[in-house]
Amino acid sequence: ASPLAVVAGLGQAARWGVVIRNVESIEKAVKLTMVVFDKTGTLTIGRPEVIEIVTYGFPRDELLALAAAAEKRSEHPIARSIVEAARKAGVEPPEPESFTAIPGQGVVAVVSGGTVAVGNEKLMKGFEVDLAQAEEDVRRLRELGATIVYVAVDGKLAGVVAVADRPRPHAREVIETLHRMGLRVAMLTGDNRVTAWAVARQLGIDHVIAEASPEDKAEMIRGLQRRSEVVAMVGDGINDAASLAQADVGIAMGRGTDIAKEAGDIILVRDDLRGVVTAIKAARGIYRLIR
Ligand code: ADP
Ligand code: MG
Repeated sequence: ASPLAVVAGLGQAARWGVVIRNVESIEKAVKLTMVVFDKTGTLTIGRPEVIEIVTYGFPRDELLALAAAAEKRSEHPIARSIVEAARKAGVEPPEPESFTAIPGQGVVAVVSGGTVAVGNEKLMKGFEVDLAQAEEDVRRLRELGATIVYVAVDGKLAGVVAVADRPRPHAREVIETLHRMGLRVAMLTGDNRVTAWAVARQLGIDHVIAEASPEDKAEMIRGLQRRSEVVAMVGDGINDAASLAQADVGIAMGRGTDIAKEAGDIILVRDDLRGVVTAIKAARGIYRLIR
């Protein structure tokens, strides 16, 4: 094996926008059986937009103002979509008196003296909010691939905000190519099962791991590895760092968080999903040199 040839191979990969930080991951990349993608921000653009607001006994603008106030301090893409929807509607959200983010669930804030919880089912369960009234709307919106954000005020359901995110360019074609390369492809997400499957179907993915909390995600990867899968994980966010580290090959998207990039064995600096295919092909090429 010529070290020089390997260095040249790494250099060529880098010119294609694939930075291989961990040389040991090359051998694993050659033996991959499965590629797992994070959903939000990786398979999708990560800039969700509010597509519908349903309220239960609340004026729409008031609900939007409370939800946006609660989400103001959150960095989550869902939070930004709600703040943006309020801005577009000309609604001025008040300053929250307090604010807490609960990773993988949502936010809780005190706004104008009321406790406003904005997030998923898990968050609502913690506050014992009755969601029965929303059931039909929620099912309909999830079948479209929308993510449901519940808004509760003082423990009572006030409305739901449906947000939807577009698939990233090339997502479908990349998944098709990986399938043709003999790899299984899975989606890993904290989002709801019905929503996740609706998105997966659009992209041609037939393995879905949904409703995984940030801590669950690494455990899910470990579970696949116990079943003899050699796993690449592709992700971009803070919540992906542990699963990127647990995977045999962690692939971080270039626009992702620094934490994700630190945890990645391979960085796709062009922030283009096609880099996943390039990375695996580059690893195969370099491996032939060192074998
Ligand atoms: P993903 O796995 O899709 O990248 P996360 O792990 O960041 O998502 O969050 C999982 C779920 O938690 C989201 O789908 C959403 O329902 C909920 N969530 C997290 N943060 C927020 C927030 N700031 N506002 C509303 N919902 C949130
Ligand atoms: Mg994500």
